[in-house]
Amino acid sequence: MVLDTTTLRIAFGLMALVLVVLFYFSAYRVTRSPYSGWWCVALVFFLGGSGCFLLDGTPHQIWANPVGNVLLVHGGVAVWAGARSLRTARPPMWAFTGLPLATLVASVLDNPATNTWSGGTVFLAAMSISIGLASRELWRLEPGYSRVRIPMAVSAGGLAVYYFFRWLAFVLEGQDGRIFVTVFGSAVTTLVTMVLLVVVSFSMAALSSEQQTRALRVVASRDDLTGLLNRKAFLDLAAEQLADRAITGASGALILADLDHFKSVNDTYGHAAGDVALRRFADACIATVRTTDLVGRYGGEEFVLLMPGASPERAELVASEISRRLAADARLDGVEMPTASYGISTYDAGTSQVDDLIAAADAALYTAKSLGRNRSARSDGRI
Ligand code: GH3
Ligand code: MG
Ligand code: MG
Repeated sequence: MVLDTTTLRIAFGLMALVLVVLFYFSAYRVTRSPYSGWWCVALVFFLGGSGCFLLDGTPHQIWANPVGNVLLVHGGVAVWAGARSLRTARPPMWAFTGLPLATLVASVLDNPATNTWSGGTVFLAAMSISIGLASRELWRLEPGYSRVRIPMAVSAGGLAVYYFFRWLAFVLEGQDGRIFVTVFGSAVTTLVTMVLLVVVSFSMAALSSEQQTRALRVVASRDDLTGLLNRKAFLDLAAEQLADRAITGASGALILADLDHFKSVNDTYGHAAGDVALRRFADACIATVRTTDLVGRYGGEEFVLLMPGASPERAELVASEISRRLAADARLDGVEMPTASYGISTYDAGTSQVDDLIAAADAALYTAKSLGRNRSARSDGRI
């Protein structure tokens, strides 16, 4: 079977065009992520490069052949740039200027009017290097990032290795060599590139939507006003923590906090000032607890904190530290910060439900309120 290179290139061009359009509208327009942007750019370069090669054998070959080489190398560099952007790193300038420039010079000096492989050695090396670097970037992403990085890394790595052997065959036997023509010729390469483009585009699209889903999940779990976990997210995460604890057997504490006479803050200074006080309280909580603790807005002016590993004494210290920070903010912006009351419940190795912990903390909170507010109270015993 003889594969006709021109027909394949036209098929490749059409496929790249469809992918650019699909990818632009389905991934880039929606997510605006740099890597999907770079992937669109790479596809446009590949499209332009293979379009130029269609002019081989015509009087235009003299300029189209070097330009085609340069565009394809730019495409390889754009793939690398996209992979680097996943870990928010920029590609160095030499990749964008050095590799294409070296390819252009080699190609122009190599009889591009008659030689369809003008500058072949430099072109193949540049492709292998840029795509190999892209693969390396994808492997270097942290493992939890996304599973689709693996087919992408394998595809890019495979293509880089293919280009490396193509380069080797070209250097050893030249463009008319038997192995070069049968295994690494333009027809086979176009086919290989087509298959890989589909794999990588599919993976990139999956990665874009996964990133967006992650971002949406974060938004859905947050309280608008304070940025803390909302009630549902807190309860879900706390239940997860308590389930884990059943394995590790660790203990911890839960604090339910309620601002004192908060209604009068609203009544005296207005609702907007009340919102400021709620944010200040949230900031004081975050500044006080450990990053592994959970802090949520339970509702209105009530907050809830889960502190795995904390003793009741530590929970009391945390509560008084939050109040201290809030008092230090007093009269900021002319608004007198309210005090807060806290109910503390604790748990240990036995299984317990979040609801039970909150109910016990709520009872303790009631005690703190009835004892005159601006204090914390512990539920008796562990839950
Ligand atoms: P106590 O010391 O007994 O807790 O008295 P309190 O005034 O804090 O409690 P109460 O339950 O009577 O009032 C809670 C107030 O919290 C009433 C409500 O308007 C206010 N509130 C709830 N959510 C928000 C909010 O998002 N922003 C503002 N500014 N106020 C809120
Ligand atoms: Mg309340
Ligand atoms: Mg209150």
